[in-house]
Amino acid sequence: MSILVVGSVAYDTVETRSERRERQLGGSASYFSLAASRFAQVRVVGVVGEDFRQEDLDLLASRGVDIAGVVRAPGKTFHWSGRYHADMIERDTLATELGVFKDFRPVLPAGWETTPYLFLANIHPAVQVSVCDRLSDPRLVILDTMNLWIETTRADLMEVLRRVDVLLLNDGEARLLSGETGLAEAAAAIRGMGPERVVIKKGEHGALYFGPDSVLAVPALLLPEVVDPTGAGDTFAGGFVGHLAAAGADRRSGEDVFRQAMLSGTALASFCPEAFSVECLCGLTAEDIEGRVARLRAMMTP
Ligand code: AMP
Repeated sequence: MSILVVGSVAYDTVETRSERRERQLGGSASYFSLAASRFAQVRVVGVVGEDFRQEDLDLLASRGVDIAGVVRAPGKTFHWSGRYHADMIERDTLATELGVFKDFRPVLPAGWETTPYLFLANIHPAVQVSVCDRLSDPRLVILDTMNLWIETTRADLMEVLRRVDVLLLNDGEARLLSGETGLAEAAAAIRGMGPERVVIKKGEHGALYFGPDSVLAVPALLLPEVVDPTGAGDTFAGGFVGHLAAAGADRRSGEDVFRQAMLSGTALASFCPEAFSVECLCGLTAEDIEGRVARLRAMMTP
């Protein structure tokens, strides 16, 4: 079962207390693809600039990611820059340079319209709507968003939310979108906007799943050292959606497959902060992932 992802394929400049890494491979679609490709075939729709290194495209392709939908346009690749606080959780965005992203009009390669799973990664909601429109009856549509779009393009976001089955967002974004303080109330309000299921990520405190018939709280795995947490949310999404695709889930599936997908998402996300950029996702084996899922299950068993 394949997954189509539309999102940023980017260069990130990341500063921590001890290091600064310039223009390394990042972007929501890159992290997502490298995680989801452990479970299912992934097709990426995105845009890069003339400065994008061929070796970075080769890296995605070498992990089995289909990059036929990534076009190279005149101009510079989307560039995001951030600086982490000493706690390695809070961060300040120093720059968001849209580059070729500004005029991005996604084009789907022939045959991709029938892809059964659609992940709309963090990107302008009008672009998310346009990709949604081109897919014929996907089994599941999953969406990630961020403060920027909730604050600046709410009408477009509300339109895309009506077509979405699962929304992933963090706790601050859930409060902002719903206007509610409590997360259960926030999830209920968001479910009224369209998505039948809502996943609220809480960083080092794990993630909450709110479905039609159940709620699940999954803790985060405790990591000895955090090198660079950038992309952990997208990596979570890759494990979550990858699990659903591998299981052949659809909107009529029972709660169990969505609850199990929460474990795969959490397990994948736990690798991401162990190194800069996408490094920790490249050499992962099935045993590595199963080992983290087993650790999680042990943490969740009284
Ligand atoms: P996360 O740490 O999960 O929030 O994801 C960080 C990734 O999102 C980085 O690799 C950035 O390149 C990408 N990113 C940051 N801002 C945006 C934006 N406005 N649109 C699309 N991608 C973004």
